[in-house]
Amino acid sequence: MPHLDREDRDSELPVSRIALRSILSEGLSEVIHYGKKCIAFAGDPQGAVAARFEDGSSTTGDVLIAADGAGSHLRLQLIPHARRVETGIVAISGKLDLSDDVRRATPPPILHGPTLILGPNGCFMFASAVDYEDDTADDDQCYDPEKYVMWGFSACTETLDLPADPAALSGENAMAAVLALMDDWHPALRWLVQTADISSITSFAVKTSVPIQPWATQKVTLLGDALHNMTPFRGIGANTALRDAAALRQALVAVSRGDVDLIQALAAYERDMIRYGFAAVQTSLRDMERFHAKGLLARVATKSLFRAIDHVPPLKTAFLGR
Ligand SMILES: Cc1cc2nc3c(=O)[nH]c(=O)nc-3n(C[C@H](O)[C@H](O)[C@H](O)COP(=O)(O)OP(=O)(O)OC[C@H]3O[C@@H](n4cnc5c(N)ncnc54)[C@H](O)[C@@H]3O)c2cc1C
Repeated sequence: MPHLDREDRDSELPVSRIALRSILSEGLSEVIHYGKKCIAFAGDPQGAVAARFEDGSSTTGDVLIAADGAGSHLRLQLIPHARRVETGIVAISGKLDLSDDVRRATPPPILHGPTLILGPNGCFMFASAVDYEDDTADDDQCYDPEKYVMWGFSACTETLDLPADPAALSGENAMAAVLALMDDWHPALRWLVQTADISSITSFAVKTSVPIQPWATQKVTLLGDALHNMTPFRGIGANTALRDAAALRQALVAVSRGDVDLIQALAAYERDMIRYGFAAVQTSLRDMERFHAKGLLARVATKSLFRAIDHVPPLKTAFLGR
């Protein structure tokens, strides 16, 4: 993918989860309570909503926002008909500290930004470097000092030939499974896999949510992966969760000003979020299929599309739907 000017508002800036989490939770230490597992909600006689926690405690509020990720307990209670299904693709990822050796051995496009690699036999690799100066940080406050190269390798279950539960695979076995499919790949890419920190290697079966229609709005709403969890192949799951957060914030501010009723505001948020959230789910699925296609024609078409995008920046804007 072409890498736009990093000063450009629309450019990609890879950020580690650790750094993003620190930034998002800044100033909230009095508000966030870690280690509390929310297991259910219930209506309150006063018209509020109560959240129940695994440790037996509970709390009430005007509205409950379930942002509890793809395995959301609260989604299961709110809309038990919503489904999450396997896609038939397995992903294995790993990372390497960005030492001088790794910097020298890594193909330059990967050092410059997210890079997509279409391999033979429906195998796909994504690689990127997290390597930027945190110029807002001083010595006491560094969001995530780690610089690294990460890769993710994926293929369909039959091609990777793994045991029933990929998540149970050891780092060594997962690395061996990837290398077995990379015999005729460029040595620099094999090296990135071979040199990954074994403890960083994880495997998982890629799942996706199934689109659903709006439901009868309650004082409990959903945000991010709790509803529209998607495959990682477009890299927009967290971006879409942030979009939800911004939209929901706007809706709740309007309610607090008395401009609109709470249920009406939540219903409008949910309608819109369902529309663009599941559109993102479908886009991610389409990319997943594109990247893992085995047929010659489909692979040539995908490679041509990305080469064209590489050479004509406006095509990238159109492709990303900006
Ligand atoms: C390999 C991979 C690569 C990805 N790459 C990208 C990318 O490049 N760009 C991008 O935009 N997205 C990416 N994503 C998607 C992104 O990670 C998710 O979409 C995003 O994390 C969703 O955010 P969320 O806050 O909705 O859920 P989560 O990040 O899953 O957060 C849910 C939180 O709720 C907590 N929780 C769970 N259950 C409970 C409970 N019962 N009570 C209380 N708390 C609970 C969890 O501990 C967690 O902290 C990727 C995903 C994967 C798997």
